[in-house]
Amino acid sequence: MSSTNRNLIGGRWVEARSGRTFTSVSPANHDDVVGEFAASSAEDVQAGVEAARAAFPGWSLLPAPKRGEILFRIARLLAEHKEELARLMTREMGKVLAEARGDVQEAIDVAYYMAGEGRRLSGQTVPSEMPDKFAMSVRRPIGVAGIITPWNFPVAIPAWKLFPALICGNTVVMKPATDTPACMARFVELLIEGGLPDGVVNLITGSGGEVGDAIVAHPDIRLISFTGHTDTGVEISRRAAATLKRVSLELGGKNPIVIWEDADLQLALDSVVWSSFGTAGQRCTAASRLIVHRRIHDEFVEALRTRVAALVLGDGLDELTDVGPVINDRAVERIASYAAIGRNEAELVIGGEPARDGKLAKGSFFQPTIFANARPDARIAQEEIFGPVTTVVPVDDWQQTVEIVNSVKYGLSSSLFTRDVNLAFRSIRDFDTGLGYVNHGTIGAEAHLPFGGTKATGNGHREVGQAALDFFSEWKSVYVDYSGRLQRAQIDTTFVDQG
Ligand code: NAP
Repeated sequence: MSSTNRNLIGGRWVEARSGRTFTSVSPANHDDVVGEFAASSAEDVQAGVEAARAAFPGWSLLPAPKRGEILFRIARLLAEHKEELARLMTREMGKVLAEARGDVQEAIDVAYYMAGEGRRLSGQTVPSEMPDKFAMSVRRPIGVAGIITPWNFPVAIPAWKLFPALICGNTVVMKPATDTPACMARFVELLIEGGLPDGVVNLITGSGGEVGDAIVAHPDIRLISFTGHTDTGVEISRRAAATLKRVSLELGGKNPIVIWEDADLQLALDSVVWSSFGTAGQRCTAASRLIVHRRIHDEFVEALRTRVAALVLGDGLDELTDVGPVINDRAVERIASYAAIGRNEAELVIGGEPARDGKLAKGSFFQPTIFANARPDARIAQEEIFGPVTTVVPVDDWQQTVEIVNSVKYGLSSSLFTRDVNLAFRSIRDFDTGLGYVNHGTIGAEAHLPFGGTKATGNGHREVGQAALDFFSEWKSVYVDYSGRLQRAQIDTTFVDQG
């Protein structure tokens, strides 16, 4: 193990107490071992939490603009190392290089945005109902935050959580997904190089069952920010309730693109290919349902089939590749099982099989797949598949469209292609999702707007933007009475007309 493949606890790179390790391999070629990492357990989490607790007083009392200056330095370092991080990400996680660069860019954007927050972190100043009394609210740091992240955005998602946590004055214990520890280890190394004091961020690698669970259960961790599968989120929420933690959950999606009969079809096709097959469909915001007006259904499906047939599957490091591997062979099996279900539920237009020919033989690849003429209640139109599979559902009228959009258990992203401004605004009002797009696919969120979803996509919190500050800080309402006498709120109502 190199030093950075160990845990980072209190500013020192250390092996797991047990001495156990696990390996991370490239999904494009399983013979390519990216690294060996500490297989940690509750003992290591305990050490990480102690380090984070020890660092909390110093970090939380450092003026927020000074914390921001460190984040500015980190943002610049991430920008300098963007290409290196992106290449590591493509190798370890599989997404094509252009998307890996985008993933790192999101981290840079959030770092700059949250660095700027160091000079704001605004509360409210409001008039008091009593004379000679001052009223305001201020944000306070909370304590040690536990951050648990998935593999599909191995730098962006940790950054979305980490930078708001830090600017608000919290210290952190972070766990990456078992499939992508190298990305987080390199990211954390740059944080340290950027000047984060020892113990402010602690990295513990290892499994969800051991490390994740220990973070969730630890009584000194006051808040958990988690992104991952809905079932995992529900379990975390249940476990965290025992210690009354604040929990933010960003979970699954089954995101629709609605293509109305008056849509610009070429634009819709470009957007569907990008939203459904980008990151091999492994985005929480991936367009895995296409709700298409019946009058254009067949024409649209044929045009999409032609576009998808031309997609090049391969190693994301090859600039000619359009669609990279999925994360591992378990994912291939899961996607294949949904493809088998889909064959009984709808018309298979293209794909439907794992891809194992030639250069793909050593990796985890699945053919880009389209199902058409599906019923809205088909399993492939309802359940998150998390692979390069999309399902076309024909629709006849607007009312039915709204019902179908809202018929799934998730509510992350939705999109409508139309030239009708009235429908555009109706979609914004009526589609029950946290993100809504018009004439743009379901992916492409920006760092300064709230990110998250409704229903089984989460528990009501939002990431990034100003909204993230509300999760990572505690409100304190402050009253300063300079009247020099007892003033009883709600009782001394001298100034109110009680007529
Ligand atoms: P996952 O299996 O739920 O894992 C996510 C993280 O949780 C990993 O670090 C995992 O560790 C850890 N974990 C697993 N079991 C745990 C437990 N019992 N206690 C604590 N931590 C535990 O999800 P995934 O497969 O990595 O990610 C795919 C899912 O994430 C999809 O459903 C996708 O929609 C969702 N997602 C949502 C958003 C959003 O913002 N809404 C964004 C991206 C992804 P191991 O890796 O060791 O198992």
